[in-house]
Amino acid sequence: MNTQEVVIVAENVQKWYGKFQVLRGVSLTVHRGEVVVIMGPSGSGKSTLIRTFNALEEHQQGRIEIDGIALTDDLRNIDAVRKDVGMVFQQFNLFPHLTVLDNITLAPIWVRKWSKAKANEVAMQLLERVGILEQAQKYPGQLSGGQQQRVAIARALAMQPKVMLFDEPTSALDPEMVREVLETMKTLAADGMTMVVVTHEVGFAREVADRVIFMDTGVIVEEATPTNFFQNPTQERTRKFLSQIL
Ligand code: ADP
Ligand code: MG
Repeated sequence: MNTQEVVIVAENVQKWYGKFQVLRGVSLTVHRGEVVVIMGPSGSGKSTLIRTFNALEEHQQGRIEIDGIALTDDLRNIDAVRKDVGMVFQQFNLFPHLTVLDNITLAPIWVRKWSKAKANEVAMQLLERVGILEQAQKYPGQLSGGQQQRVAIARALAMQPKVMLFDEPTSALDPEMVREVLETMKTLAADGMTMVVVTHEVGFAREVADRVIFMDTGVIVEEATPTNFFQNPTQERTRKFLSQIL
């Protein structure tokens, strides 16, 4: 793992929703194999920021590059970047009318142009990796929330992304299912996946993150190793936030 290799560069990223400036100059570099956790109060712009990394949201100023490809208005670039950026949402977003297997193979078949046989083979390997091989022929509605989220992770991995973005992946889960999803993410990190994770799971951040970033009102307020972040936060706003969640 070459940790000097850069996967995500965001430089002075600014974004408005109408007149409201949601991102007010965010700069961030993520290296290959790094796990970056983003924390911050609700409404601070965490989701918006990571959604700009695969152009689900458009930024108006600043520069974003994913694995050397600039996210500009050029649709070819946007398509190229989306192939390389896996995303996992709070609300799973699985296709309810497709089996688990078909949920996973859809994009590889249509976007990567894989044969059905190859896509199925890779999907089965991924289902095994996330520990739900036996659920392949079921529909999302027949699975628990934790299992559905692991399908969502497998589906994102099927595109062989260079980076995985997670937006509060355990926030919609019943408490007993949080652990299985965090364990899956932990394994992924240990295998060297580059990850940006919006989460308030302190245990995960402490154990898995290389860096923790704290956002408030559309800016990065603090950026530190997990140890420093949780034990010696330098900013008053970080301390206040931590006193609420710890
Ligand atoms: P977080 O993920 O940190 O909770 P978000 O990125 O979702 O924050 O939202 C940041 C701010 O932008 C919030 O004030 C939210 O209300 C606003 N916002 C988010 N999405 C939209 C949208 N599509 N249109 C207008 N305002 C939005
Ligand atoms: Mg959010």
